[in-house]
Amino acid sequence: MPFSLSTKNELARVFPEGACCARAELAAIASLDGKWGKDGKLEVTSSNAAAARKVYTLLKKLYRTENQVAARKKRRLDKKNLYVVSAQGVQQLVDDPLAQPDTDALPSKRCCRRSFLRGAFLARGSATNPNRGYHLEFWTSSKREAERIVGCLESFGIAAGISTRKRGLVVYLKEGEKIAHLLSLMGAHRALLRFENVRIMKGMRGQVNRLVNCETANMDKTVQAAMKQVAQIRKIQEKIGLDKLPPKLRDLALLRLEHPYATFAELGELLTPRVTKSGVSYRMGRLAKIAEDLGEG
Ligand SMILES: [Zn+2]
Repeated sequence: MPFSLSTKNELARVFPEGACCARAELAAIASLDGKWGKDGKLEVTSSNAAAARKVYTLLKKLYRTENQVAARKKRRLDKKNLYVVSAQGVQQLVDDPLAQPDTDALPSKRCCRRSFLRGAFLARGSATNPNRGYHLEFWTSSKREAERIVGCLESFGIAAGISTRKRGLVVYLKEGEKIAHLLSLMGAHRALLRFENVRIMKGMRGQVNRLVNCETANMDKTVQAAMKQVAQIRKIQEKIGLDKLPPKLRDLALLRLEHPYATFAELGELLTPRVTKSGVSYRMGRLAKIAEDLGEG
């Protein structure tokens, strides 16, 4: 299941304990996805069945006395379903400044702001599958709506960006750390687990890649090989003297002693006339053979 959908489905099943929080969540959804009629009628439209069901349940629970709640399915032109929940007589919700469209009101309590974010995500959120990258966003139709969500995120220390889209604006998070923090605040624990697993796997893979590419790992091999060559050349020097070597081998032996950490390509460049990497390798092999023939000790 796409990460966005599974996160929404999970959040649709998270019901806050406090009535204050439940009201804040419903207000967030109503303000973003709701349409208010003149007679105090509210109509919330959602493309997510679980989210619509949650709106229905919250309306019944919170304002059960006087309202009539109805839900229906609507088929869009692209054949995707839309779910419409309508309620009448929800005067309290009508009077709630948090539930107004295009408002900048935010809940004052921290518990309620967490629920507010959950509602906003259910209404307008989407998140990229973490395997493909870290991106979470809220689509909004106005600058005020966008700034309201940014303000709420900011109250938890999460700095979000805003970018303009063809239709409206997008409040986005691009850092894994921030997205994980938000998932945790909203109470999307399974989504958080999935997200963090990917982050850990990516981190481990990154570390392995770094080790493989690490210059010091290659350097170790080069240094070890060079040390061995230097030891072989010293042995020849002690036993017979480098002057007894053919000039081509003598020059390379002296050069190696002078540049113990140079690569074969670098040594080839330093020789006159220049020698290729494989030429240096061949000559080094001959030096090793001579050293070997000189025997142990
Ligand atoms: Zn609360």
